[in-house]
Formats: sequence, structure tokens, C-alpha cells
Amino acid sequence: MFENLSERLSGVFDRLTKQGALSEEDVKTALREVRVALLEADVSLPVARDFVKAVQDKATGQAVTKSITPGQQVVKIVHDALIDTLKGEGEPGALKIDSPPAPILMVGLQGSGKTTTTAKLAKRLKDRDGKRVLMASLDVNRPAAMEQLAILGVQIGVDTLPIVKGENPVQIAKRAKTQASMGGYDVYMLDTAGRLSIDEELMRQVEAVRDVANPRETLLVVDGLTGQDAVQTAENFNDRIGISGVVLTRMDGDGRGGAALSMRAVTGKPIKFVGLGEKMDALETFEPERIAGRILGMGDIVALVEKAQETIEAEQAEKMMKRMAKGQFNMNDLKMQLEQMLKMGGMQGMMGMMPGMGKMAKQVEDAGFDDKILKRQIALIQSMTKKERANPALLQASRKKRIAKGAGMEVSELNKLMKMHRQMGDMMKKMGKMGKGGMLKQAMK
Ligand code: GDP
Repeated sequence: MFENLSERLSGVFDRLTKQGALSEEDVKTALREVRVALLEADVSLPVARDFVKAVQDKATGQAVTKSITPGQQVVKIVHDALIDTLKGEGEPGALKIDSPPAPILMVGLQGSGKTTTTAKLAKRLKDRDGKRVLMASLDVNRPAAMEQLAILGVQIGVDTLPIVKGENPVQIAKRAKTQASMGGYDVYMLDTAGRLSIDEELMRQVEAVRDVANPRETLLVVDGLTGQDAVQTAENFNDRIGISGVVLTRMDGDGRGGAALSMRAVTGKPIKFVGLGEKMDALETFEPERIAGRILGMGDIVALVEKAQETIEAEQAEKMMKRMAKGQFNMNDLKMQLEQMLKMGGMQGMMGMMPGMGKMAKQVEDAGFDDKILKRQIALIQSMTKKERANPALLQASRKKRIAKGAGMEVSELNKLMKMHRQMGDMMKKMGKMGKGGMLKQAMK
């Protein structure tokens, strides 16, 4: 689905990874080519621009490692930036369909593949997740559309709501809900009517259905072949109806793929699935990591750089442990700890793993610590100067105010952070004394 883009990019990176040393100019040239390749794939201009900028910023600040070439490092940065651009929250393709019967509202323009996708998704929910699904067509203007869904239902073995002539979409939605509750269905899917283009009447109809159905998911189906128009359509539907995700169809075609890359960045909503053909099982979860891999086609290099980075992190951690044992524990160390915690599933997860800290994990939990707080604390440390980080005792009241303000927080939060730093420092010292081969050595293993 991204053949052209992939080919272009591998050309750029083949050249880059073969070079030993890279000048800033080399990287700039390569990134200019990346930008052109993105634009040619019909990625929207602001998205392409932001993408290249993010890569450039990261590439400039990267620690260089001996075992990999700068070019390889750039590939990894581009790879990660691609994932960032594509990724939504939570697991790829995850749907909120607990508390049965969960309504899923399917919206989109006529011809986008909405009815086909409704059936594909129903089949997937039935076969993969073992859900009992009921489908209902709300397209009262086109009896053929209602019949199409009924036929697909028979084909895939999923029930459809019996067609009753003369009902309006809201009445059908209500009937679907009743039937889903009474019939013990886990999910019911509402396939709304489409139009050739967005018009007021359509939007009002979809809004009315949304208000009675209160959907857990509102999935917009858009034709991937329409490129930036697909993104525009998504923006319009999202503004008006509020969507929870996108299904991009016809990604089996020779489209340039740009819609897939711009979608999340422009609309803020993730692509959850892609349609890859007319058959009922031609629906795939949209997995940013796999897609990024497919676009770059450089999985080996990415794995290599990840390995090298792990080594650097391990070295840094070891250094920190040594310093801590000597009673030195500065804000840089704390920042590294906090970042590590974020990676390892937050404060509780991390504390639970450290010897002797089970009790503290409970306290941390009771204090309402979560990832957001970790991120805020990291932001606070980032607002400090290098000297202040090395020696937080230097911080005067006026500097504290500035730092808190710079990170968009209250001084009280900074004080809390500093207290935590002191307490951790004290604890480290104690552990160091007890340790000399005891606890600390264990923790380092
Ligand atoms: P609706 O008007 O939005 O409900 O569109 P339909 O579901 O009737 O689909 C219109 C046409 O597009 C049908 O011929 C489908 O088989 C076809 N279609 C839907 N999804 C895909 C896809 O992912 N790939 C391809 N190649 N065709 C698709």
C-alpha cells in the first residue's frame, strides 16, 4: 500500500547509511528528499513539514554511539517519527465494546465502502472476539443498501435487524437497541446513510441517530484513494459528529498512501482499520509500528539501533547506581529514573520491581501518582539549568518560581519534587551503606 513512498525513502536511506560520517548538510539534504517523497505521496504540507522538523530536532540532539553509523541512527529516528505520526491512544484497532449491547455507529460518504466495512468488522468481531453482533442499515433512502447489508449478513453469519418499511433512521436505531438488548447481543452496528458529498441534511440525520444511540464507537469510513480529500472529509465529520476512529478503505489500490500518514496528525483521530479488498476478510488492524516498518523497509537497522540504545541506557544506569551508592543523587539522576519509570509502566510497576520498595509502591498508589505526574515532574527538571540539576540546593525562591512557571506549574509542585528528590537521596545513601554488595548489587543485576 505504500510501494512508491517506500521505494523513494529506501533510496534516500540507502545512500545515507552507507556513509560513515555525516555532516549536518548530508542530513539536511536527506531530509529535504524525505519531505519531497512525503509530498509526492500526497501527505499534507503541514504534516510533512512538522515531520521533517521533528526528525531534524531529534537528530541534532542525539548521543552518538560507536556501534552504529549516524545514517542508521537517522533511519531509526525517522522510523520512530513515523510511528508518532500514525499512533493513536491505546492498542491498535481497539474498540470500546464492553457493557453490552455496545453500539457502533458507522458513518461516511456514499461509495466509501461503509456497508462493506460494517459487515467486515461484524465478521471480525464474531470470528476473532467471539462477539454476538447485530447489524442494522439506517439507509431509508436506498432500499438496495438495506438489502445489501442483509445479504452480507447471511453470507458472514451475522444477524441483521429485519427491515420495516416506513421507519425513519432514528426509529430504526431505537429498534436496533431494543432488539440488541432483548436478544443478548454484545454489539450492534448502525450503518448510516451516505451521500455523495457532505450536506446539511445528512449531518442532521447522523446527529439525530448519534443522540439516541449514544455510540461507544463512531467509525468514519473513508476511501483511501481520495488522498487529501479523505482527510478533509474526516475533519468535517469529526467537527460535526465527533468520531472515535477512521477506517481507510481501498488501501489495496495504488493510492499514494498520504491520507494514511496525514489522518491522525490533521484530525487527531487514529486510523483503526484498513480495507484491503472487497472480500469479507479483507480488513486489517492499522498497526503504526508495522506500517512504519513497511514504509521504511529497514527493520534490520531499526533493531540494530534499538539494541545499541539499550546498551547505552544500561551503561548510564550502571553509572547512576555507582554514584548513588556514594550518596550522589542529583536531579539528572532523578529525571532518568522518572523516564525509566514511565517506560516500565509507571511508578507502581517500577517500585514493585525494586527490592524493599513494595510498601512504597502502595504509598505511591495511594498518593494518586500516575504517568501524568511523572511527565510533569520531568518537565520541571527540564526547566532547570545544568548547574541547578547537578545541585538543586542552589535553587532560590525566585528561581523556583521561574522554573515552575516555565513548566506551567505551581511552586508547590516543584517543592514536592524536591522533597521527593531529598527523600530518595537519603534512601539511596542508606541503601549504599547497608549495601556494599548487598541490596544495590542485587538491584544492579
Ligand atoms: P457504501 O456506499 O459506502 O456503503 O459503499 P459499499 O460498501 O457499497 O462499497 C462500494 C464498493 O467498494 C463495493 O463494490 C465494495 O466491494 C468496494 N470496496 C469496499 N471496501 C473496499 C476495499 O477496501 N478495497 C476495495 N478494492 N474495494 C472495496
